[in-house]
Amino acid sequence: MTASSFVPDIVGIDLGTTNSLVAYWHDGAPHLIPNALGQTLTPSVVSLDDDGSVLVGLAARERLQSHPQRTIASFKRGMGTATSFRLGDRVFRAEDLSALVLRALRADVRARFGQDVDRAVITVPAYFSDAQRAATRNAGLIAGFAEVSLLNEPTAAALAYGLNERDDSQFLVFDFGGGTFDVSILELFSGVMEVRATAGDNQLGGDDVDACVERWVMDSAGLPAELMGEPVFVSKLRARCEAAKRALSSDPTARISFQHGPHLIDLTLGIDQFERLIQPVLDRLRYPVETAIRDARIGTADLSAVVLAGGSSRLPAVRQLVTRMFGQFPSASLNPDEVIALGAAVQAGLKTDAVELAERVMTDVCPYTLGIESSKQVSADRHTAGFMSPIIARNTVVPVSRVQSFQPLTADQRVISVRVYQGEARLVKDNIPLGQFDVDLPRSTDGRWPHIDVRFTYDVDGLLEVEATPKLGEQAAGPSRRLVIQNSAERLSDEQVAERLQALSSLKMHPRERMEVRALLARAERLFMQLALDERERLGHEITRFELDLESQDPRRIAQGQAGLQRLVQLCEADSPLGV
Ligand code: AMP
Repeated sequence: MTASSFVPDIVGIDLGTTNSLVAYWHDGAPHLIPNALGQTLTPSVVSLDDDGSVLVGLAARERLQSHPQRTIASFKRGMGTATSFRLGDRVFRAEDLSALVLRALRADVRARFGQDVDRAVITVPAYFSDAQRAATRNAGLIAGFAEVSLLNEPTAAALAYGLNERDDSQFLVFDFGGGTFDVSILELFSGVMEVRATAGDNQLGGDDVDACVERWVMDSAGLPAELMGEPVFVSKLRARCEAAKRALSSDPTARISFQHGPHLIDLTLGIDQFERLIQPVLDRLRYPVETAIRDARIGTADLSAVVLAGGSSRLPAVRQLVTRMFGQFPSASLNPDEVIALGAAVQAGLKTDAVELAERVMTDVCPYTLGIESSKQVSADRHTAGFMSPIIARNTVVPVSRVQSFQPLTADQRVISVRVYQGEARLVKDNIPLGQFDVDLPRSTDGRWPHIDVRFTYDVDGLLEVEATPKLGEQAAGPSRRLVIQNSAERLSDEQVAERLQALSSLKMHPRERMEVRALLARAERLFMQLALDERERLGHEITRFELDLESQDPRRIAQGQAGLQRLVQLCEADSPLGV
């Protein structure tokens, strides 16, 4: 088979908070697929263009500042919740927006191979709850994939690294992204890659680092708190603070300088002060690491490597922290932005039984404890509810199925409520509720108490099924009931997927082949807004001229105009006193 005729059966997708990537397995290695701009990183940003078409990726990200009401980023944080996002006059859920990103990636795959690939492995943070996982799978189906399987992000990073690791080693993946932090400890033994422990914080990421800088800017510049209610100001502030943070990964100082109405902000942030500002975030990174090490029952000296993933692991302070915690320098042989997508491609290879991976087997774990609420007898005549009764302990190898029996509080109780939770806390109020349902209890005729058997089944995609069966002795005594997951993120039926697919299909996607031009115009418009009034004229003139070139539909004229505008944009960006 030649490379050009090869079409993979499955693609691997890193659906990130900040960026998304798609890759495939071929000839013994994972390969990334470029988007229409020739880049492998597609910003996970969706914007409604002025003509009503949907923009995904860089062009959309450029519009975050110029059109904040028509552009949405970081929606992954809303996955599996009922949160809605307004885009122009339409309202979307996070899974619809994710489906639009996945559709754009699917188009890139089609452009690369000349046909669709219908199966996908999509990565999710290990700490994603059941509802968040179900929402991710739904997004894949709504995007038109016929089959979607899920893979924990740190496991994906480990798969990418594991390819190069020697057998019989243990290593830790430290995955610090835009919105989540995951730690996993893996063991590679006789070709079997086993996740020993996973821990994390799904509300800790680069966004929190940015928030520290944002607060410092507000305080240092003495800005009124009301400004945080203005979307245009917030997106400007956010972009500047994020850019300053990135700059501080290589430079000793960064300038944050922009104008908003009567407010001129012009500040310089030094690396030492920046690291003091973000200390609370750095402190929070410790706990999941400690938990994972404890759960894996190893010492830091047993680790043969510490692997970094996620964009935020580029922060020098994070690298120093990792070096101090583990007494060794982290391994940085793979690009942290790409490592998860590469691992998803390895998993795609495993799923298609690629010969080069024949010796490899992967096992994963359930990252958190799953259980139901129960009551405890606190005195002779009193029961107190609200306790967490674990059924599947965290870091149990998956797939797994466990049953436990629960008794009613009194012999004549007719109904038991099964309330399902995820988390490690003693009391359910401190854990995450997943859903609940009632089970009818049979009436006992022989004085024996009825009970229910609660079965938890956790599959390799990390999706949970809960079934409760009422019983009298060993006999089933009534119909079983199943869990309905809260937040309406349950698995969609084929008809529901078709309906949502139809609804999204009515949205016109911006043509892929015109993406480069659209991204350049969006960038020029963003830059125009950032320039001072007296600096805008030439750029404004050039934008208008290029729009006329486009109308002419003359390919030569368009190419010339494009090159001209590109040069000017680069010049303005390099020259800008505002540090754009
Ligand atoms: P990810 O979710 O893995 O794409 O990571 C994105 C996060 O990494 C965002 O919060 C970015 O601001 C952050 N990030 C990307 N590059 C850098 C850098 N050079 N220094 C610090 N943070 C970065």
